Amino acid sequence: MAKNEHPGKPLRPTHQDKLAGVLNSDPAYDGQFFYAVKSTGIFCRPSCKSKNPKIENIDFFDTSDDAQRAGYRPCKRCRPDLLTYEPYKENVEAIYNAIMTHLLEQESLTAQMKALGAHQDPIKSAFKTRYGSLPSALITQKRLSLAADGLLTTTKPILQIALDSGFSSQSAFYDAFKRTYHTSPGKYRKQNTNS
Ligand SMILES: [Zn+2]
Repeated sequence: MAKNEHPGKPLRPTHQDKLAGVLNSDPAYDGQFFYAVKSTGIFCRPSCKSKNPKIENIDFFDTSDDAQRAGYRPCKRCRPDLLTYEPYKENVEAIYNAIMTHLLEQESLTAQMKALGAHQDPIKSAFKTRYGSLPSALITQKRLSLAADGLLTTTKPILQIALDSGFSSQSAFYDAFKRTYHTSPGKYRKQNTNS
């Protein structure tokens, strides 16, 4: 399968995307469309682990209601009729909580991210759907905003601010800061304070 490196999900998956999604049981497409199997009269979420149908028997629907109106019954396994279904809901919420509570404890956060699957594509994708950014981007964003605040409200040296905000080094901090603020931490401090 050609790996889809889109950030997040495409708004309208193409027919090929949908087929690939179904054949790979890709949870990234859950909620975007449903597929029905003409030979069984049952419809599923893309991530359903039931055995792959013959391609010529697949029928796509945008919503669960559409599939049901067309006469298909919801699969008992993936329950495409439950609208609140969110893939990886528990992982995604646990990742978010870990970021919020352990932002400054690098080692602990890294270990938790790994344990919760924060580096796995489907989980990253579900996280982004829910919170608008990837876990790693959210971590950086939170640390940067802490650091920016520190630059403006304290006179601490920049290295200290970097470490206090959870960055592993001054250079990692500079790189991330420049990418977001398009200036260096020192200039940012000068430009935004009267000192
Ligand atoms: Zn199913």
